[in-house]
Amino acid sequence: RAKSAGRGVAAFYDPEMDREARERRQLETDLRHAISRNQLHLAYQPLVNAVNGVCSGYEALLRWSHPDRGEVLPDSFIPIAEETGSIIALGEWVLREACLTAAQWEPHLSIAVNVSPVQFRLANLAEMVAKVLAETNLAPIRLQLEITETALMKDRMITLGTLYKLKRLGVSIVMDDFGTGYSSLSNLQSFPFDKIKIDRSFISTMEGGGSARAIVRAIVGLGRGLNLPVVAEGVETEAQHKMVIEEGCTEAQGYLFGRPGSMMVIASKTFAEAG
Ligand code: C2E
Ligand code: MG
Ligand code: MG
Ligand code: MG
Repeated sequence: RAKSAGRGVAAFYDPEMDREARERRQLETDLRHAISRNQLHLAYQPLVNAVNGVCSGYEALLRWSHPDRGEVLPDSFIPIAEETGSIIALGEWVLREACLTAAQWEPHLSIAVNVSPVQFRLANLAEMVAKVLAETNLAPIRLQLEITETALMKDRMITLGTLYKLKRLGVSIVMDDFGTGYSSLSNLQSFPFDKIKIDRSFISTMEGGGSARAIVRAIVGLGRGLNLPVVAEGVETEAQHKMVIEEGCTEAQGYLFGRPGSMMVIASKTFAEAG
């Protein structure tokens, strides 16, 4: 405690920082055991045809039920998992779980899985994906891997090699959160994407009459030029839904169509709709 003060260095004991550091270390440790302790599950959020609302598939979103903290959201633990390397095991768990589940759905439904930039750099991603697809018996064409632009920033050649290996397996690659990263335009040209997802922040501010709508329009135009479908993420209101249709988005996702939910909820809904 405040040892350095004796050495004439300005230092003070900050109990708050101490607590934060301890909590963070605890979280890191807890995360390492989360899989074996069965604390993880996936929530599934529908993706729909923007115009007719028909569900085309689901995105798998990771959930952690912490014994003391309750539900921890991915934005607060994925970065920790990425720094400690736990994301490699977590990512494989997510993919296997998602593929196992999707293999039981009707075959026209796709499954989207988020892939961390760290998985791109540290693991033999394409081999892992091939192994999981074989084990779970999921047709590769049904799997969509969502990556963000940060995955493309380092080791471009390695990333490109991995992407082409994945494409040769038959899986699709989605550019997630498009518009928020760097050098978006050249990335679209040099990497083999199959779909663009417009970041939620543009959709949520579209109604405000500012520049967001112009950006959505530009991204859709880009998609058209490159022959890529464009998804609007985070559609919450009818007004936003109307706008994304007007702008030409082909698919939509958001609370308006369905919140991320457990497989049981989704199954019962599908059953209710069918019956
Ligand atoms: P993302 O891949 O962009 O996922 C979309 C996020 O937006 C999800 O948050 C989803 O619940 C939320 N969302 C969807 N529709 C709406 C809406 O209408 N309004 C609002 N306000 N939010 C909406 P979530 O589940 O908290 O995930 C956050 C991020 O964590 C994800 O962003 C993704 O980057 C990451 N993530 C989630 N699961 C995984 C995973 O299994 N692996 C990796 N590497 N990352 C994951
Ligand atoms: Mg995503
Ligand atoms: Mg996204
Ligand atoms: Mg995101």
